[in-house]
Amino acid sequence: METQDRLIWRDGNFIQWGDATVHILSQSLQRGTLAFDYISVHETRQGPAIFKLREHMERLVATCHLGSLPLSYSASEMCDAAVATVRRNPDAKSIKISALIPSLEVDVIPQDATVSVLIAAYDGEVDIIAKNKGEYHRAPNLKLFIEKEKRNRRKDIMPAQAKIAANYASPMTAKWKARRAGYDEIVLLDEDGFVAEAPTSNIFIVTPDGTLKTPPEHKILHGITRASILELAAARGIDVMTEDLLPTDLLSAAEVFLTATSAGVWPVESINNQAIGKGVAGEITLALKSHLNRITQGLDKKFNHWLTYVIKSAS
Ligand code: PMP
Repeated sequence: METQDRLIWRDGNFIQWGDATVHILSQSLQRGTLAFDYISVHETRQGPAIFKLREHMERLVATCHLGSLPLSYSASEMCDAAVATVRRNPDAKSIKISALIPSLEVDVIPQDATVSVLIAAYDGEVDIIAKNKGEYHRAPNLKLFIEKEKRNRRKDIMPAQAKIAANYASPMTAKWKARRAGYDEIVLLDEDGFVAEAPTSNIFIVTPDGTLKTPPEHKILHGITRASILELAAARGIDVMTEDLLPTDLLSAAEVFLTATSAGVWPVESINNQAIGKGVAGEITLALKSHLNRITQGLDKKFNHWLTYVIKSAS
């Protein structure tokens, strides 16, 4: 499908890809109040399948609540809309749902607080990366940098649980700086110096005795892949703990990996230029990565309820 032929759901109707725009003076663009979520679509033998659709839509509802955005759709309505959007956009690999205030503003408080919802289903590589000149950086195993100057968002400003545009401005500048210094990704600390998360992923370590550990929920975005890995690891008989971690816990770990919808399980090979374990993807990391891949391909019946199959419409 050609990019310009893709259809984007906007408030109950489908519009052309090129028409999904907002005015430069819109409230969400000027003040960072866009709430969003990113969902993956996988090719399976039974057709396209959306990973943990309901959980993502519930997180969007929670984000709108934290950001005081008066959303007028329920999670169920947005699930139905997402399925319809995937059906209209063959070969889509990603769904991005955005809830924003499009009205023009002169104050931080919108005059017209009507929230508009848009759902795009697309293939990031074909529709976006291939059409942009810039190089897209994606390492198979990550060189991580522990960012100490910029802390993870403070809960008295906008909680880390909100997936809202404003929360990404500070991590973006820190990640950009680290990228220029030769790292792939950064890990952010909380205000007390404990490990929080990466700009768009959660972090796990495997201790030398084989325990899987990840920071607790109150300081991070509630990653859907993180919750999936916690459940999966427990089902595989791995000891799992959520607890505060120090940067030194990362450096002395046997394995470290990140999790995100966009990347699944992402092995870390070094932190601050120091090798983690043998400096390659660890055994437990790879086992969880391939198990999650099997699930998203619809090949593990026990976890089939994590997928929403999109039955193609008869044409
Ligand atoms: N933390 C942040 C700040 C994120 O933006 C993301 C990406 N949504 C994650 C963690 C990982 O969450 P998920 O597994 O739901 O993609």
